[in-house]
Amino acid sequence: MSEKNIAIAIDGPAAAGKSTVAKKVAERLGFIYIDTGAMYRAVTLACIKKGLDPKDEAQAASLLPSLSIEFDEEGKTLLWGEDVSCYIRQPIVSGNVSYIAAMKPIRLALVEMQRKMADSKSVVMDGRDIGTYVLPNAEVKIFQIASVETRAVRRYEENLEKGIHTSLQEVEEDVRKRDYIDSHREFAPLKPASDSVLIDTSFLSIEESVEAVLKVVKDKTGVVPLC
Ligand code: C5P
Repeated sequence: MSEKNIAIAIDGPAAAGKSTVAKKVAERLGFIYIDTGAMYRAVTLACIKKGLDPKDEAQAASLLPSLSIEFDEEGKTLLWGEDVSCYIRQPIVSGNVSYIAAMKPIRLALVEMQRKMADSKSVVMDGRDIGTYVLPNAEVKIFQIASVETRAVRRYEENLEKGIHTSLQEVEEDVRKRDYIDSHREFAPLKPASDSVLIDTSFLSIEESVEAVLKVVKDKTGVVPLC
């Protein structure tokens, strides 16, 4: 690994396979992986658990002073110390997370946490605004896309594996809805950074997508995988 810390930002629309690819890229490089979507999902779950309305900014923001979101060594998402990794993938959370993510006070608080997590470590961070807003000086910026149909089928199959039962049509509607809200919100919307490299994974396997990212990393930084 290089002595200088390196940041790799992977942004893109819902269910484009960012987290699967980002996690594997981080493993291969020996970098820390940070799933920022999990953090917005954890805030959404916190709202639901506390009986707050995830569409009401004042109610959601009231959580901020006591909010504690961390990742353990295995990458599990801890909300107030409890592992909520499974709960944050439930349809009730997916269906509400984009409302929470459009709230400026929530974004400011989470972005501060994300920047601290990336401070003084080499990281692979995935989300919607990493290359444009969270880490604008990231050495490598990837914008990962796939057709909406491909993304819906992938998420549907992933859900089935996790025991989450939703129809393919519901999953596709959720993906389209989140894409729309994420790219039309006022603050830090989903869009490619001007210096990002576009990778379309519609016809790529996971391994091919990982290799495509690693090639960009090597070209831009000279850093090569440990294994
Ligand atoms: O990546 P994932 O699909 O789990 O993210 C869930 C939601 O969190 C997204 O649809 C988006 O609304 C929000 N998000 C965001 N900015 C990020 C990461 C996620 O707005 N950096």
